[in-house]
Amino acid sequence: MTVDSVTLSALPRRANWIELPFARPAFFSTRTAGDMGRSFETENATRVAALGDLGLTASDVAWVKQEHTRDVVYVSERNSRLKSCKSVRVPAVADGVLLPGMAKYRAAGVTVADCLPIYLHNNRDGVTGVLHSGWKGTGILDRALEILGADTEVLFGPCIAGLCYAVPAQRATAFASEWGDECVENRGGRWFLDIRRANLGIADRRGVRSVRIVSDCTHCNSDLWSYRRDGNAIFGLAAAVVLKDDHQR
Ligand SMILES: [Zn+2]
Repeated sequence: MTVDSVTLSALPRRANWIELPFARPAFFSTRTAGDMGRSFETENATRVAALGDLGLTASDVAWVKQEHTRDVVYVSERNSRLKSCKSVRVPAVADGVLLPGMAKYRAAGVTVADCLPIYLHNNRDGVTGVLHSGWKGTGILDRALEILGADTEVLFGPCIAGLCYAVPAQRATAFASEWGDECVENRGGRWFLDIRRANLGIADRRGVRSVRIVSDCTHCNSDLWSYRRDGNAIFGLAAAVVLKDDHQR
């Protein structure tokens, strides 16, 4: 599997969004966009304003009630060949959302702060989606690729880097036993956890040929929201949005 790395500074901006290099129009909100709020808060005025800059209303976007699960839902009004995936009306409790081409929603979205947003598109099925993968939810990509297949385009948005993400030893041990020793590191007696690396391993094992990653760390890049850096006092969430087609308003 090849890994193609890009940095945010090289990517175009649209208002308070960074436009990501992907098969479908894909965006990640900057800190200047404001707090995008908890997963499915469609009434959040900050979110409504930011989505307006993309020509979207909050109800154009299929959101899920994120709870650090490994569950992916497929939003459909009709039957599809994705029979292995639970088809639901949103918002449902899940941390990943997949949209077929014919869905009434124009985009899929999740909110993150340090966790990894994963953008997906499968041209064969015309399915577009986005996942929220933190340490607890790591494995959600495995579930999504089981549904979509290896011929899926995969982009990792910005997340907290391995050596910025110190965790308790117990968590590191549990993560390593599930995702491999290479996903944790001990430096000076402290444990660090690499979410991006674990997800690259998942994509590789699923037979994905190439993954594009945004290499910026949310904790280091003050242009982005970070739970670890900003803490509870000014904690905010970024939105990761992917449009299901190229027809933007
Ligand atoms: Zn960092």
